[in-house]
Amino acid sequence: MHLMSFYATPYSARHRQEKSVKKTLFLCAGSFLAGGALCFGLAFAWYAPSNLKDSARAAIGGIYATMTAPQEAENMPVADALAVAATQNALLTPSVAPEVEAAPVPEPWPRTIETKVSSGDTLISILTHYGIEQVAAHRLSKDVNRTYNLRQLRPGHKMTLVLNPDATRTPDQDSYPPTILYELKINIAKLKTVIIKRTGDNTYSVHVERRQLITEPKRAKAVIVSSLYRSASEHGVSDKTISDLIKNFSYDVDFQRDIKAGDVIDVMYESKRTEDGEVIETGNVLYAKLNTKGKEYIQYRYTNELGLPAYYNERGESIVKKFLRTPVDGARISSRFGMRHHPVLGYSKMHKGVDFAAPTGTPIFSAGDGMVVHAGRAGSYGNMVVIKHNGQYSTAYAHASRIARHIRVGTRVQQGQVIAYVGTTGRSTGPHLHYEIRKNGAQVNPLNVSFAGGDNVLSGRKLTLFKQHVEHIKSQLAVMSTDSNDQSSVALAE
Ligand SMILES: [Zn+2]
Repeated sequence: MHLMSFYATPYSARHRQEKSVKKTLFLCAGSFLAGGALCFGLAFAWYAPSNLKDSARAAIGGIYATMTAPQEAENMPVADALAVAATQNALLTPSVAPEVEAAPVPEPWPRTIETKVSSGDTLISILTHYGIEQVAAHRLSKDVNRTYNLRQLRPGHKMTLVLNPDATRTPDQDSYPPTILYELKINIAKLKTVIIKRTGDNTYSVHVERRQLITEPKRAKAVIVSSLYRSASEHGVSDKTISDLIKNFSYDVDFQRDIKAGDVIDVMYESKRTEDGEVIETGNVLYAKLNTKGKEYIQYRYTNELGLPAYYNERGESIVKKFLRTPVDGARISSRFGMRHHPVLGYSKMHKGVDFAAPTGTPIFSAGDGMVVHAGRAGSYGNMVVIKHNGQYSTAYAHASRIARHIRVGTRVQQGQVIAYVGTTGRSTGPHLHYEIRKNGAQVNPLNVSFAGGDNVLSGRKLTLFKQHVEHIKSQLAVMSTDSNDQSSVALAE
């Protein structure tokens, strides 16, 4: 049971690591073997004398003949075996004109060739490789450039060529037979294809086809097995949608601590597909409900009158909990976040918080609800309190003269609760509060944290409109399948 260790790693990164490590090992082993065989092949091609090479080629031919014609090929000279194989092939191929004898069976025309742009390729180099005349290839490339800038052609772009033979030119043994291009499609993006069609002698039409995306709501309901990430992705919910979910719920729920196997997530999200049903991407989360620890958390995406989307609970309260901008009363900012000349160290150093100058003993408030994860000495920080607010955010309060009573590791605190008092302990020049907001463990500029503003609670007309939206979503949910069969298919062991 790796359940607990999975919780310790957000997004179930551990699982991904394991997977990728196995994959890498497998690939290494695979490429080592393939590489060995290839090296041998190359070495042979370079160093073997030409007559030896011929006999090797004959031997390979013999193996082929033995495989295709086992009875006759036994003890037969290689050349004869090949002849037998060729005859058999000819006999197996249905022929419309059986009276025409011994003619080599031609490959069917027109030929459709699927290829990919490799690095160093140009449209001209690809076209001439497949037998199109230099002059024609240049002219075509010019034509295409008028509609699509061929400099944007990238390795990996898929191409489909439809070719017919060009009887006016003599074939060269070593290269592709002379051809005329009838059609060319270049997939330049998931939904964009350049289509080139022959319209007459040396004339082509070029246009870019764009496939339209259809956005429709989809619903997935999953019982969490090991992590929200795995459970949701097994239900076809994209990484982006899952990370949006985690981000949104992390104001209320600590994903590393609170989520347990058996918790249920129900989500409605935008699915974007092409006309022929291929899902290209998933979009916004429209509704999500998480049941954990006997509590239910619901959020609705709602675009307000100003066109700004945000997530609200059923009561119209923003799910984004604002932190206090100034966690100390009546203070002024004495130093901002960023590079500065350090007053004590004497050289330039990154200042990873905001300083508020205030007299010693001024109460310091917790910027938000959370749990104390540090309360005491911390080197140059002096007396410091660190509060964890959710899976993403924590706040730190340094240089305190003293820590408030009852504040110790594990204490739950509420926004605005006094946690410590301003001082000048640690590396400090005078009484001030050094305040940090840490996102995923790294300090961010508290003055830039986006959730420090915005509508917190909808009211009046805004609330009425929001309630209408909620009713609309609920009526959609009522007719959408919850895929209850899928639930049972999620195994609970890990
Ligand atoms: Zn500071």
